[in-house]
Amino acid sequence: MSFIPYGRQCIDDDDVGAVAAVLRSDYLTTGPTVEAFETALSSHVWADHSVVCSSGTAALHLAMLSLGLAKGDWAIVPSMTFAATANAVRYVGGEVIFADVDPDSGLMRPGDFEAALERAGAHHVRAVLPVHYAGQCADMPAIAEIAKSRNIAVIDDASHAIGTRYQGNGTEWSIGSCAHSSATIFSFHPVKTIAMGEGGAVTTKDNSFAQRLRRFRSHGIERNPAQFVNQDAAENPWYYELVELGFNYRASDIQCALGLSQLGKLDRFVSRRSELVARYDSLITPLSPTVLPIGRVSGCTPAWHLYPVLIDYSTIGRSRDFLMNAMREQGIGTQVHYIPLHTQPYYNDRYGELSLPGAEQFYERILSLPLYPQLTDSDQDRVVETLIYILQK
Ligand SMILES: *Cc1c(COP(=O)(O)O)cnc(C)c1O
Repeated sequence: MSFIPYGRQCIDDDDVGAVAAVLRSDYLTTGPTVEAFETALSSHVWADHSVVCSSGTAALHLAMLSLGLAKGDWAIVPSMTFAATANAVRYVGGEVIFADVDPDSGLMRPGDFEAALERAGAHHVRAVLPVHYAGQCADMPAIAEIAKSRNIAVIDDASHAIGTRYQGNGTEWSIGSCAHSSATIFSFHPVKTIAMGEGGAVTTKDNSFAQRLRRFRSHGIERNPAQFVNQDAAENPWYYELVELGFNYRASDIQCALGLSQLGKLDRFVSRRSELVARYDSLITPLSPTVLPIGRVSGCTPAWHLYPVLIDYSTIGRSRDFLMNAMREQGIGTQVHYIPLHTQPYYNDRYGELSLPGAEQFYERILSLPLYPQLTDSDQDRVVETLIYILQK
C-alpha cells in the first residue's frame, strides 16, 4: 500500500506541457507568462492588482516594505500561524504583538485583535495580519472596522485560502479582492492549494501600492521615465534608477507557467477538497467527542487547505506522539499546524513569557489528516479506519 502524505501537489501532463512550452520559448524570466499569471490570478480572486513573487514569505516581506513598516512600528499577528507571517514584520525592523485565537477554529477573532491592541499599550501599531487558517476566513469586515478606527493597515495572510469566499453586509466577497484589507498574501508552495514549486503573490486595490511592490520585487529599480528623480538622464536608452533598497523576489516564467496551469484547475481542486471535508466530517462522527472537526465559522465558504481535527488525548490515554507514529507505521502522514509562534525560542527570547490560552488549547488538540485532490474515497476510508483502529487499541 502506498504512503498517504498529509498534503501534496496535483500535477498532470498539461501542467508539465505548460512548463515545457516556456522552456522552449524566448523568456525563462521577466517574460509574458508572469503577466498572464497575474491577470488570471486577479480574475480568480477578484483583485484589481496581482504581483507574483518568489514565495509566500517574499510576498509578506514585500507587503511590509511597501507599507513602509519599520523600526519603531508594531504589528499584530495571530500566534496560530506559520513562522513567516511574524518573521516578515521582523525583516523590516518591526516588532510583533501576538494575538490569541479561537480555541476551536484557530482563527484570530475581532476580540482577540482588540485584546492584543490593549496589550500594545502606547506602542505604535501600524498593521494587523489576520491568517485564514486551514482555508476558513477571519471575520474581515469586523477586523477592518476596528483597524480603520485606529488607522491600522490590514494585510491578510491567505496562504491557506485561495478560492475562499465570505459574506458581509449582504454581499459576497472573495479573499484576495481586498474588500476589507490593504493587501492579501498568497503562497503557491506545493503543499498549498495550487503549486508553483516556490511562489507567492500579493494582491491589492491600490495602484501605487502595487507599483511599490513591483519595485521592491526587482532591487528597488525604477524603469518608468516619468518616475525618474534625474529627468536630465531620462532619454539615455540604458538609463534606470535605483531609488530604494529592494530585492530579487521575482518569480520566473517557468514557475508562472505552472501557476497559470494550476489556477485553471482551482475550482475543481476546491470542490474535491470540500467533498473530502464533508466525507471526513461524517466518517469521524462515531469518534465524537474524542475527535472533532475544527470549529466552523459562519458567513464563510472555505476553500479548504487543511483538514485538522481536535483530539482529546487525555480521554483516549494516548499521546499525539504515539498516534502520529502509529499512523505513520500504517502508511499515513499527519502533521501539526502549528506550534504557537509566541512559544518559539526566537520570539519567547525577544518578548518574554506570554500566555495565549486559545492558541495553546488549540495546539494541544490539533492534528491535520491527509487532504489533497487526488486522495481517493478509499484512501480516505483507510485514513479514518486506521485512526479508529489505533484509538481503540
Ligand atoms: C506557507 C505559508 C507561508 C509561507 O509561504 P512560502 O511560500 O512557503 O514562503 C506563510 N504563511 C502561512 C500561513 C503559510 O501557510
